[in-house]
Amino acid sequence: MDIQAELISIGNELLSGRTLNTHGRDLGEALSALGLRLSRDTTIPDEINTIGNAVDEAFSRVDVVFVSGGLGPTVDDITRDALAKLLGQKIVLHQPTVEHLKSWYEKRGRNITIAATRQAQVLESAVVLFNSAGAAPGQRIELAGGRMLFVLPGPPNEFNAILNEEIVPWLQNRFADIRPRIVRVVKTKDIGESDIVTILEEHGFEPADVELGFYPAMGKVEIRLTAAPNHEASVTAAEQSLLKLLADHLDLYE
Ligand code: AMP
Ligand code: MG
Repeated sequence: MDIQAELISIGNELLSGRTLNTHGRDLGEALSALGLRLSRDTTIPDEINTIGNAVDEAFSRVDVVFVSGGLGPTVDDITRDALAKLLGQKIVLHQPTVEHLKSWYEKRGRNITIAATRQAQVLESAVVLFNSAGAAPGQRIELAGGRMLFVLPGPPNEFNAILNEEIVPWLQNRFADIRPRIVRVVKTKDIGESDIVTILEEHGFEPADVELGFYPAMGKVEIRLTAAPNHEASVTAAEQSLLKLLADHLDLYE
């Protein structure tokens, strides 16, 4: 079973070059480990209609969509409003999160402000996902037809806390029968990509059921072979062929 998911990263700062978007990498890694596939990462500005359209389009392709950013207390944090408008849902105050925020502020000798309580607002049908690293909780919203929407805050430590503590265990359980794809890595050095490809083409190296990826960096090329879990034999055969064909160029000591 090939379960694909998309990420929509929201934030003007991600597009202006002020902030490096790290969520795609972190989510891609977490989903791959589970055997799910991040099939697209779209970065968009903090604009209500752009957000709504992006989520709508993502659901036209896949059943699992992640949205990140724009859940803070400031005027540019409009993700909730965009989602509420798109899904025709109300925004409600999640009282346990208000209590959590209150005690968080009290511990720091401060009183909670009205602006801060805005972070406890969630969509009416959301299952609230505890944020152990910050204020705004994550949300899981189940939609018709088995589609699911995950909403996460922007700061990477909060995004990752909710992803690893709340979402990964839930997905593991929900997709318990899915096994991760097989990944094998062959590393070469002192040979360029085009020379590698020439060798492979000369020997008709075109393994069936195995996806090849070439990743060059600093005089080295990493070749990744990936395959569905039922194609172990194919990927092993392809790996052995590669090791033979590139025997004079292997990077064995990294
Ligand atoms: P926000 O939730 O939009 O208020 O974002 C809070 C903080 O998280 C800001 O400093 C953002 O730059 C940062 N942030 C938001 N989205 C991302 C992302 N995709 N990758 C890295 N940092 C992000
Ligand atoms: Mg933002």
